[in-house]
Amino acid sequence: MRRKIFLHYILLVIIGISITGYFTSQLAQKFYKQEVNEKLENTARMIQHQIAEDLSQGKKVDFNDAASKYAKVLNQSSSAGTAAGKEYSRVTFIDFDGKVLGESETSYQSMENHLTRKEIQEALQGKVGKDIRTSKTLNVQYLYVALPMESARVIIRVAMPLMQLQKIGQEIWNYTVIGILAGFMLTVLLALKFSSDITKPINELIHVSREISLGNYSKRVNVKSKDELGQLADSFNNMASRLEKIVSEMTDKNIKFDSIINSMTSGIIAVDNSYKTLLINSIAAEIFGIKHGPGTVGINILELVRNHQINRFLKETVEGNASLLKEITVSSPKNRVLRIYTSPIKSNSASNLNSGGIAVIQDITNIRKLEQIRTEFVSNVTHELKTPLTSIRGFIETLRSGAIHDREVSEKFLEIIDIEAERLYMLINDILQLSEIESKQKDSNIGTYNLKSIIAETISILEGVAEKKGVRLIDESDGSIEINANRDRIKQMFINLIDNGIKYNTENGSVTIKAFKGEGKVSISVKDTGIGIAPEHLPRIFERFYRVDKGRSRSMGGTGLGLSIVKHIVNLYNGDIKVSSELGKGTEFIIQLPA
Ligand code: ADP
Repeated sequence: MRRKIFLHYILLVIIGISITGYFTSQLAQKFYKQEVNEKLENTARMIQHQIAEDLSQGKKVDFNDAASKYAKVLNQSSSAGTAAGKEYSRVTFIDFDGKVLGESETSYQSMENHLTRKEIQEALQGKVGKDIRTSKTLNVQYLYVALPMESARVIIRVAMPLMQLQKIGQEIWNYTVIGILAGFMLTVLLALKFSSDITKPINELIHVSREISLGNYSKRVNVKSKDELGQLADSFNNMASRLEKIVSEMTDKNIKFDSIINSMTSGIIAVDNSYKTLLINSIAAEIFGIKHGPGTVGINILELVRNHQINRFLKETVEGNASLLKEITVSSPKNRVLRIYTSPIKSNSASNLNSGGIAVIQDITNIRKLEQIRTEFVSNVTHELKTPLTSIRGFIETLRSGAIHDREVSEKFLEIIDIEAERLYMLINDILQLSEIESKQKDSNIGTYNLKSIIAETISILEGVAEKKGVRLIDESDGSIEINANRDRIKQMFINLIDNGIKYNTENGSVTIKAFKGEGKVSISVKDTGIGIAPEHLPRIFERFYRVDKGRSRSMGGTGLGLSIVKHIVNLYNGDIKVSSELGKGTEFIIQLPA
């Protein structure tokens, strides 16, 4: 820019100076020629006057002498007189017939007749004759001025060598060139300053606008002048201030918008009417396995979300301008059940045109799972209740139809009815316990109890059963552990675990209970030397009504809810339960509770 201004400026000045210089030089030469012409003419008139005077006094005029005399005067008076050799001004006298009567520079006798010369011809017509040509006599270019003198019938011709004129012209031109050069140099200096004055604020504007485009919105231009550039800088600074304010407001809004959108529990995807993504929140990105970030905006939804169903719903919504509510299952990146609500984005409510579509995606996998669990639970409970009830009703029926009269048989049947009723009672008891624990976020009736005392109480309850089965109960727990909990709940946990350890044990087997404190946790282990659990069953034993061997469990009076209750109690206290088992060798349950 600066170079351009500089070059243009210099070019303009060169053109200006050159044209001015040329015309000045031409004008100077023209004036000089005119002056020389006038001088020659005046000299001729002066000579004419002098000769006329001489003649009037009756003097005889020797034209050759007169020519030399006047030429001498002429050469002395002019700077040309100093010139050497042929460059002297000449004075010539020629009669009206063209014969040369006298000449200052050469022998006039040797000179040819001058009648045909242009200046002589003009003088003969009574005018002041003028010509520029090379003298045949002296072979030098002369400017001739010829003046007729009627009284003496003689033509006075005064000539100046053109070389003098050219020399002076050259001198004028030299001065002009020096002037041009001096002007040019001054111009270069001025142009440098001038271009720098113009480009400095422009460069600053460029620099600051570049900074602003890189996001440095606080940058301002510092131009103090009051001219157009100053006004431009002021407008620029105002614009930058406005921009800074708008960007900061927008950033603020975007941050708020982003945090709202990304804190939502539902996934959100919005597209424009050419299906380019307008927005996708972190939940939606997580659901569809997309890397969430600014790069996701502006991409076609087909490329971004590799799920044809949601893409189809969005298309139907945008094209049909209607809302949709659908439920789909996806298998990638995770098995999920999604509820999708799509609706068009109305750009202008008056025209009812939509400018895209928005999908709100809810992950209802857990809701569906819970629903399924509930349904299964209800059907399991029904089934579990039905079995003993059917059995009870069957035996009552048999008793009614005569068996009641056989004392032995009726005793046996009543005993079975009692066992089944007991099982029903236990089942209902377990179901009630489970639903009570499940409905709780935090347990009630919390107190501080010695863990060993709870274990001892449990052992005293189960001792009889264990003895019957020939199973030893061994308490190796640390007596110093205090626990903050609902005593009945912890007791129930031990009853269920130790009871299982007895139930699924062999004769002369044992159940060992350990409890110790460490790393901010209370660790409890219930280990038996029983039948063990096959590895394929291990992941499912905490499910409701799951039994490895249904018949065995039932014959032992199991409900299939014992471990489920244990797991729920452990969860209620934010603990963790693990099981390890080997078939034929035994099973160990390890529980960790926060101390
Ligand atoms: P149940 O009332 O049938 O004992 P649980 O929920 O207490 O129900 O246990 C679920 C299943 O896990 C049992 O049916 C049994 O097959 C298996 N099980 C539980 N504890 C043990 C154990 N200590 N040894 C072997 N199997 C066990």
